[in-house]
Amino acid sequence: MDIDELYQEIILDHYKHPRNRGTLENADVKITGKNPFCGDEIILSLKLKDNIVTDVAFEGSGCAISQASASVMTEQIKGKTLSEARELFQEFSKMVKGEINYDPEKMDELAAFKGVCEYPTRVKCALLSWNALKNALEQKKE
Ligand code: ZN
Repeated sequence: MDIDELYQEIILDHYKHPRNRGTLENADVKITGKNPFCGDEIILSLKLKDNIVTDVAFEGSGCAISQASASVMTEQIKGKTLSEARELFQEFSKMVKGEINYDPEKMDELAAFKGVCEYPTRVKCALLSWNALKNALEQKKE
């Protein structure tokens, strides 16, 4: 299995068996993200305590990239501080936009979405849940 196939497998696995799917009771922030270009929708709920993402869940529908990206994201940000989550957003967004100056060591399963940069219309799908996260964290800041 080459690396592209492995990445493909990770995306399909998360699409078929999404992690942290659902909605959180008493979420601190709940936010909806939509990507009209593809018809993707994500509803993200977060629990935050002492600047840490203590729990996260998502619901939604749409293409494999958008749903798998949300699933991988929830696994990657759970337990992270808000600034770590923001940093991961920056790195992931650089990676899927094809910028080379991101930190590959931080990526883990997120690296599966690296190939998205070759399909500009898919970048919005991959970033949907991350943009929702960014908005949620900004909402929480004030
Ligand atoms: Zn999509």
